[in-house]
Amino acid sequence: MGASRLAVVTGGTRGIGAAISRALKHGGYRVIATYVSDDASAQQFKSDEDIEVLKFDVCDFEACMGSVASIESQYGHVDVLVNNAGVTRDAMLHKMSPQQWHDVILTNLTSCFNMSRAVIEGMRERRFGRIINITSVNGLKGQAGQTNYSAAKAGIIGLTKALALETAPKGITVNAVAPGYISTDMVRAIPSQVLDQIIAMIPVGRLGTPEEIARSVFFLASDYAGFITGATFSLNGGQHFI
Ligand code: NDP
Repeated sequence: MGASRLAVVTGGTRGIGAAISRALKHGGYRVIATYVSDDASAQQFKSDEDIEVLKFDVCDFEACMGSVASIESQYGHVDVLVNNAGVTRDAMLHKMSPQQWHDVILTNLTSCFNMSRAVIEGMRERRFGRIINITSVNGLKGQAGQTNYSAAKAGIIGLTKALALETAPKGITVNAVAPGYISTDMVRAIPSQVLDQIIAMIPVGRLGTPEEIARSVFFLASDYAGFITGATFSLNGGQHFI
């Protein structure tokens, strides 16, 4: 199953994305992991994991179209797209700058349009595809200090459902995975006192691991998940039920 399928994981060189890239590779996929600026981490990841990396900005529509075209000319068609790249620029709305708003909407939400648009025509023609979008518990429940991020992540869920309906007759599934708090650079950047308060609100009493998210993405990419589309999988240690 999936032995020669090609998967593209955006933001696939660090954190949750790196775990997703590894899980797919170990499961027999050919994997391209993308990133935007951290060359050192990307090169380390490439040599540790023997996974191809590609640098481009998922906020840039033309870069996404061009990069997917160059991947397809070099490696063949993209079967699995994982829209994982994301950033936070936290501030209360009364202090948030337009730049903080736009950066987060572009990187988390518009990127899903850009990358999905780049692969969708080929998937429709071939009548197979898997698109998995990484959203967040904070897109489901809202989070003070994250109007930008909560809006972007909630937007991903709407995009997922609409695109799932458009593509269901074409053999393509589109799903979202909504992690709770996971131990990555993004979460380690939270001040330790605040992080302690967050962990106290997680019923299982700990942060999740990137590998726990990767396993659900791996399942959604697989042939076992062909009847699942438009769904959002919550993986948050019991913090929030949808
Ligand atoms: P990290 O900050 O650890 O990694 C982010 C990755 O995204 C990096 O590879 C980064 O590239 C890449 N990236 C960022 N901006 C762009 C861009 N403009 N173009 C291309 N790539 C980009 O993030 P996490 O692993 O923590 O998060 C991954 C996803 O999971 C995000 O969508 C996040 O919102 C979501 N999530 C995370 C949670 C958590 O607790 N960590 C909880 C819920 C959701 P580079 O290495 O070059 O910087």
